[in-house]
Amino acid sequence: MGSVRIDKFLCDCMVGTRSEVKKLIKSKCVRVSERIVTDPGYHVNQDEEIYVKDKLISYVKYTYLMMNKPAGVVTAREDKEHKTVMDLIEIKAKDLSPVGRLDKDTTGLLLITNDGVLNHNMLSPAKHVDKTYYVKALHEISDIDIENLVAGVDIHDDTITMPAIVERLSESEIYLTIHEGRYHQVKRMLEAVNNKVVELRRISFGPLRLSDDLKPGEYRALSLEEMRLISEYKG
Ligand code: URA
Repeated sequence: MGSVRIDKFLCDCMVGTRSEVKKLIKSKCVRVSERIVTDPGYHVNQDEEIYVKDKLISYVKYTYLMMNKPAGVVTAREDKEHKTVMDLIEIKAKDLSPVGRLDKDTTGLLLITNDGVLNHNMLSPAKHVDKTYYVKALHEISDIDIENLVAGVDIHDDTITMPAIVERLSESEIYLTIHEGRYHQVKRMLEAVNNKVVELRRISFGPLRLSDDLKPGEYRALSLEEMRLISEYKG
């Protein structure tokens, strides 16, 4: 990290907003080792022990959140008309942004981070990160439809879709795993077999699985195990 202003460091560690941490500093609640710091512009290094009200603050470089995206919110950092997934987040970490995009009516696993390298890597077409969706269709999905979805279908792009994995759940419900992320891909794949998606929920993204304990709209930090699982993509 090099040396940074202590007020910035404390903001990055989610201690508070810039003005909140400045107040803490001015009111002598912050010390570096044994030394009380009262200047918000004082420079600190990552290896120094920084305490706020006698609590040791540990430096978090990036924040990684798993959200169960609810229907009715858009996957964007901001939107003039609609509520966004970022409006649901109360964590004070800078530059958080969703990794990829789910449609407004799609629910399920959305990763949100300020690690730009991970964001880029998990979306890179070259990495073919798997995404699994629960799909409920309007009409019955025939065995031939499944064969076609698996082999690749024409969704009116330059090329047909890459081979996919399909697991049948009922006449009109499947788990569909795709290795690419084209615009409205799942909906267009179902249209290609003369059907229509009526419910879409992402249940996995790369090595991450949607937690059963996250209700729509809820989110949490990734666990240490999940952090380990995504380490190959991290910055
Ligand atoms: N495919 C879609 O059609 N919509 C999504 O939200 C995600 C994948």
